[in-house]
Amino acid sequence: MIYKMNTIKHDGLVLYPLGGASYVYEQDLVGYLASRPPRKNIKISIGAQPNGSPHLGTLVVFSLAFALAELLNRQKSRSANVTLEVIDTAPAKELVIEGLRYQINLRDSGQADIFLAQYDQLLNTLKKLTGVGFTLRRQSEFNSQLTIPIILKKVVENETVLAPLLDPKKKKLKIRVPCPNCGLTDKDAEKNIIFRNCIVSYCPKHGKFKTYYKNSSRFEYNTPLRNLIRALSYSADSADPKRDFCWLRVTGMDYAGFYQEELLYRTVSLIGYRVDKLPIILYAPLIVDWSGAKLSKSLYVKRGAYKYLPAYLVSYEHFYERFGEKGIAKLYNEVKSWVENPYKLFRAYSVYYFMEVFGYD
Ligand SMILES: [Zn+2]
Repeated sequence: MIYKMNTIKHDGLVLYPLGGASYVYEQDLVGYLASRPPRKNIKISIGAQPNGSPHLGTLVVFSLAFALAELLNRQKSRSANVTLEVIDTAPAKELVIEGLRYQINLRDSGQADIFLAQYDQLLNTLKKLTGVGFTLRRQSEFNSQLTIPIILKKVVENETVLAPLLDPKKKKLKIRVPCPNCGLTDKDAEKNIIFRNCIVSYCPKHGKFKTYYKNSSRFEYNTPLRNLIRALSYSADSADPKRDFCWLRVTGMDYAGFYQEELLYRTVSLIGYRVDKLPIILYAPLIVDWSGAKLSKSLYVKRGAYKYLPAYLVSYEHFYERFGEKGIAKLYNEVKSWVENPYKLFRAYSVYYFMEVFGYD
């Protein structure tokens, strides 16, 4: 359907109607969040697939994580920093061989490194603004943790419970391992054979290969399974007496609600873990387009969407070129004001709101 364009009208008034969480945490969120985590040191986790220049939505998520850390650090009892989980196992390209879908990930294709420099620059600017430290963690490092083989075993033991919940379409447990020779990965885990201590995967060029859970560094998962494994790994860290930190997660509001309730909390509870031990997740407001849909990096990268918008909204590269560090500071202060005034936080913001702040072209 073609809609009549250039007819968006508004009165310029920004309203903050209360409802849901904004009603409960209207005036103070940081005090509440500071009172919850079980340990003094808090790692605030954010994630990104480095498949393109970060867009405004990513900038908002990152700013929210740093703002929360900065405000937590003002409370004497807390010490917070930021960890970026780099999802370099996300697909760089997809292909169909013998009727099955295969992917090559961002790490093995070398694509991850091209864009990580921009993420690093953004994180360093936020560090300079806030005094909050950060670290980057690749998926191989995440998966090398001693807790991962234990979680993987628990996950495969519960395959019949988890597969239909995490993958309602094909009912497959989407644990993937790229071929050690060529990187081809069975996207839908169609030919996987799952055993108690290992998984046998298939490469159309090199045949079957076996990976033990104890050698977990090359494992990959689809997004819902990764979300589950990450949450369980974070709660294992918080329970480990040898560690002195706990986790809090910041992510976009598109993952709030039904997604987390069905794919995380229900599944965690069904396989015997305690939901109350999972890290708190704070959701960043979505940046939405004219129709109310979230601004999507993949639609911009893969399909050239949003030609009607100023380039700075969809690409950090353009944002930085245009506004420099001053622009990042301006955006950061905007996001920080949402955390300081939580009635501004539990909602979405449109591209037009940001165009009022940063300009229409
Ligand atoms: Zn291969």
